[in-house]
Amino acid sequence: MRMPIRARLTVWYAVLLAAIVVALSTFLVLQLRDDLEGTVNREVRAASAQIARGYAKEGAQDFRDVSRTVLPTGSSAAQVLTPDRRVLVGYGDLLARRPIAPPQAFADALLGDTRMVTVRLGPNDRRFRAMLRPVERRGRDRVLVVAESLRHVEESVHQVLVLLLLAGPAALGATALGGWWLARKALLPVDRMTSQAKEIGIDRLHERIALPRAQDEIGHLAETLNAMLDRLEQGVEEKHRLVADAAHELRTPLAAMRAELDVSLLGDYLSPAGREVLESTREEVDRMSRIVDNLLTLARVDEGRLALLTTRVNLNEAIEAAARPLRPLATAKQVRIELDGQSCATRADPQRLHQALTNFIENAIKFTQAGGEVSVTAWRRNGEVGITVADNGPGIPPEARTHIFDRFYRADRARSRGSGSGLGLAICREIADAHGGRVWVESEEGRGSAFSLALPRTRN
Ligand code: ADP
Repeated sequence: MRMPIRARLTVWYAVLLAAIVVALSTFLVLQLRDDLEGTVNREVRAASAQIARGYAKEGAQDFRDVSRTVLPTGSSAAQVLTPDRRVLVGYGDLLARRPIAPPQAFADALLGDTRMVTVRLGPNDRRFRAMLRPVERRGRDRVLVVAESLRHVEESVHQVLVLLLLAGPAALGATALGGWWLARKALLPVDRMTSQAKEIGIDRLHERIALPRAQDEIGHLAETLNAMLDRLEQGVEEKHRLVADAAHELRTPLAAMRAELDVSLLGDYLSPAGREVLESTREEVDRMSRIVDNLLTLARVDEGRLALLTTRVNLNEAIEAAARPLRPLATAKQVRIELDGQSCATRADPQRLHQALTNFIENAIKFTQAGGEVSVTAWRRNGEVGITVADNGPGIPPEARTHIFDRFYRADRARSRGSGSGLGLAICREIADAHGGRVWVESEEGRGSAFSLALPRTRN
């Protein structure tokens, strides 16, 4: 899975801030070191000039007096060197006892140039800023060295560095937390919209996503989604209307065809072959009528217009009525239909019940091999009455059982051999739902299936 936006934003914040903190800290530390070293340079230069003046005029005593006045105690040194690098007179740090004279700078000083250098002195190799300048005393050439330790500079820089190393990660942590919180807050409406959008299925297209209070990009997204839902709802409604209208229009010619076929079949002038053709056509017209009825019922359900005209229905009679027109189909397939069960009645819409039963029984006949049997049973149990249609067909694989009542679902297209629309069982479920009842299937692969429809039992 990809990282959520919230985490990505937080990582970006943190990385960006880390880069800024590192760049800023580096700049700060370098600048601080430059500034502090600059101050030391100026002090050394000024002290060197004063001591040189004192030494040139008054000699060793003045050298010491001036050094004491102008040099900070403890971390500085001054010395006068002879051209052969001997210490003529020294002041300050113990280090001043030995000549402080990097060869190049010393040579330059002897030639009359003033040099500022950084030297490492003592057992700890501490850094010093040293100025070498030529002085003349009583006609003799000398080199005056004034050195000041850079320890304070290093300590200050070190202190700032430690502070930055502590504060940087803390700031980074705080920013990451803040970033996480901000991103979460900003994306909360998106989460809400996502879960609302997930809930809106094809059966709940009238629902809309709640608009967030702020009129920002997210508000705009919600409006756009809602506008899309408007269009979808409109499109689906138009499709339902088209199906309903088409199914409605088809019913009349189909009824006319059936009536004409019935009349033709009554005549005794038909040859056996001609009669067979007409009978087969009559069966196909019946099947088409059932499909058209199913389509019309579904379209009505979708439009919310499946009105039930309930009356007292005797289930055994309903079974008998549904099975009768299907007997020729069963006979043609050499499948027996057995009707059986307790006598029971409830309130239901007889036409819808007939439709559901027809779908169950027609499927059972369709999926049963020649010589097989379909048994239709009426029963009464725990406040329900129901009908079970059992066959000894191929059964239904477990993974298909959960979808079998979905629209346009056909478990095994090869087995259905192109016949069937995948609507029959969906209709059965809609009809059961409309009555406050339920449908279910029990099946064992290779042994057969039993489809049941249960309705709440009502007393007259
Ligand atoms: P269809 O028009 O394809 O029969 P249905 O909704 O009536 O549509 O059935 C859906 C699918 O359920 C069928 O395609 C078939 O795979 C399976 N089915 C329905 N009844 C039976 C049955 N009695 N035995 C085995 N499978 C069945």
